[in-house]
Amino acid sequence: MANRIRPSGKLSLRPATLRGDGNPILNEILLSLPAKECDLIFPRLEFVRLKTHQLLHEPGDTIRSAYFCNSGLISILSVFPDGKSVEVGLVGKEGFIGIPLVVGFRTAATRAIVQIEASAYRIDSETLTSVLRQCPSLELQLHQFSQIISMQVTQIAACNRLHEVPERLARWLLMSSDRVGSTSVPLTQDLLAQMLGTRRSSVTVAAGVLEKAGLISHTRGSVKIIDRKRLEAAACVCYGIMQLQVEEWHREAV
Ligand SMILES: [Zn+2]
Repeated sequence: MANRIRPSGKLSLRPATLRGDGNPILNEILLSLPAKECDLIFPRLEFVRLKTHQLLHEPGDTIRSAYFCNSGLISILSVFPDGKSVEVGLVGKEGFIGIPLVVGFRTAATRAIVQIEASAYRIDSETLTSVLRQCPSLELQLHQFSQIISMQVTQIAACNRLHEVPERLARWLLMSSDRVGSTSVPLTQDLLAQMLGTRRSSVTVAAGVLEKAGLISHTRGSVKIIDRKRLEAAACVCYGIMQLQVEEWHREAV
């Protein structure tokens, strides 16, 4: 399996360009747009910094802004009436928050929360809706990303039900590392337990197993991947299944 495919499955991209305000565009959807659509949408984007734990929307919220993620990591969580939640999706610079808007929906069905300090290009929902009518390439890319997230959510839901904590932890670390573009992933075990929908003690044991085997090193508030190849072998099949599917879809889309 190719190990270094980006989460989007795109193997090559134009180098990051710089906007007039000096902020580099790293979002893979924005980077792939034709010049005509860039001219239409870029003036309507606002660069924002998103702090860890910042809530972008809750289930039932009217979505007022959409975000083209530029760096960091955003978690998509399924939330239950008793307050429990579990992560069902991860979005980094390959993606976008605000998918219901693309098909004319206004309400969020999930929680979107910043997992690792992030930056993004924000756009008002009304502005996005009107720009999309003039930007067929952007609209197609957002529909494709919507399908990718849907596949990811389905796979992670099955993963949460069927696979053990250590292999899910390995899968999560690989997915996060891919999206932040670093072997170091800043996180606490409390947060990780919440993401994996399990007890903190289970995460501590699982992290200990991976650390003892020399796959990761763990310090307070951060996990570093030491041996990626063996971490891939330790992860459940879900990581590879999702990677291969995205690669396949991107080949088909060319
Ligand atoms: Zn799995």
